Amino acid sequence: MSKRDYYEVLGVSKSADDKEIKKAYRKLAIKHHPDKNPNDSVAEEKFKEAAEAYEVLSDAQKKARYDQFGHAGLGGAASGGHGGFGGGMSMEDIFENFGDIFGGFGFGGGNGRSRGSRRVNRGSNIRIKVALTLEEIAEGVEKKVKVTKDNVCDSCNGSGAEGSSGHSTCGTCNGTGQVTRVTNTFLGQMQTSSTCPTCNGEGSVITDKCKKCNGKGVERGEAVIPINIPAGVEDGMQLQVSGQGNMGTRGGVAGDLLVVIEEKPHEYFQREGQNLHYDLFVNFADVALGTQIVVPTLKGKVKIKLEEGTQSGKLLRLRGKGLPSVNAYGTGDIIVNVNVWTPQKLSSEEKKILEKLRESENFIPKPGKKDKGFFERVKEYFN
Ligand SMILES: [Zn+2]
Ligand SMILES: [Zn+2]
Repeated sequence: MSKRDYYEVLGVSKSADDKEIKKAYRKLAIKHHPDKNPNDSVAEEKFKEAAEAYEVLSDAQKKARYDQFGHAGLGGAASGGHGGFGGGMSMEDIFENFGDIFGGFGFGGGNGRSRGSRRVNRGSNIRIKVALTLEEIAEGVEKKVKVTKDNVCDSCNGSGAEGSSGHSTCGTCNGTGQVTRVTNTFLGQMQTSSTCPTCNGEGSVITDKCKKCNGKGVERGEAVIPINIPAGVEDGMQLQVSGQGNMGTRGGVAGDLLVVIEEKPHEYFQREGQNLHYDLFVNFADVALGTQIVVPTLKGKVKIKLEEGTQSGKLLRLRGKGLPSVNAYGTGDIIVNVNVWTPQKLSSEEKKILEKLRESENFIPKPGKKDKGFFERVKEYFN
């Protein structure tokens, strides 16, 4: 079957510009529109023929190939079959691609494919707080939390209907959830789709409500939900557990469970990002003579060495004993701040010894360049 020349189909000359081509197609499309010519197969053929011609002539590349090689230039799809251009576009394809040609009159366009998008109810999110110790944060932890929420009604399995006969397809929209209204205009019929008012877009109606949940499909109840908390989380962070929030009504989908992390204060440590600060108190003899001293970490105690003559305020770093990053890159340190403890109560004998030492030349402070203020020492430490 030989095809008619596309310029001839649209009734335009070979030198016609885009505007003329579009105008000619619009005229034909309206003339042969199926809504205006119901059950007229000749009109439908002409409508398709015009769309095919327009598809090629409105596309600069295809038009150039057609001008040079004719129908043969448009490739294999030209001889029948669906989907390919030049070959039999379906009515849906035409509306999908060229629906806008009908301008404000809106008929046809978007008809076919958007149908049947039924509404699904989504349940709300639930937000809870979980308090963690630094030890739990260091390792990561699974917490089981008890939440009161809307669960699927076990009597109706979420449908909201009593028994299998308590439910029927919505008669207004035939289960599509959408209603189409047809109005007559001077150009033909115009269709508009909107959410079905009878079933609220759900596609079905409940004729006999479930007695347990009164037709909602959900009921309040407690649920114990395990939450895997990764190592390294911080106060105020929020984790999202998908699908563990409130269940949506009547066969809907569940919202999410949002878990806000709270950090419990620690007996010894203060957190600063991935590092932990620890205030160590030692007596004067220990720093003067040097010693081994035990300090806590999040995973048990460790011994550290205090050098002879350690000054109060010295910072020591225990590498890798801090917190991991939540992104799994590296681990922080414990920073030990050495404080020399001054005794507040002394026996007369102790006083005598100290009185003697006080006179000693070695007890006169000799602040060297190492004896700096706290902030300077911190700055130095971190640089
Ligand atoms: Zn129920
Ligand atoms: Zn309906």
